[in-house]
Amino acid sequence: MSNKEFSEFCALLQAQRKQLLDEVRERIAASGEGLGFVNQSKTTDDDGAADAAAEMDVAMVIRESQELQDIEAALARIGDGSYGSCIDCGREIGRARLQASPTARRCLPCQEEDERLRARAHSARL
Ligand SMILES: [Zn+2]
Repeated sequence: MSNKEFSEFCALLQAQRKQLLDEVRERIAASGEGLGFVNQSKTTDDDGAADAAAEMDVAMVIRESQELQDIEAALARIGDGSYGSCIDCGREIGRARLQASPTARRCLPCQEEDERLRARAHSARL
């Protein structure tokens, strides 16, 4: 991957990170009391709906912070020059795939293989 492409994806990831951070910040501000982590411990019968909303916020923030971690990891890979290479086979992930999902760590065949293995591991546990 060329330096120009690195900086393109770097800018893309930084824009995504900023957008996610803004969303997380807004959600935290909107939910007031620190996201309901605190008020979950003082649950009473009549605030079940508020709790459910707080839990949804928590779930969203957890999902968004996982996305943020993926973005941070992708930015780190840009920093060390490994961005755009598959972590399993080392081949180039491919521009189209990276444009569709800039935080991808695996090429498509390896990603599919990984998902197959996970599905198999999951069904083995059942
Ligand atoms: Zn691969």
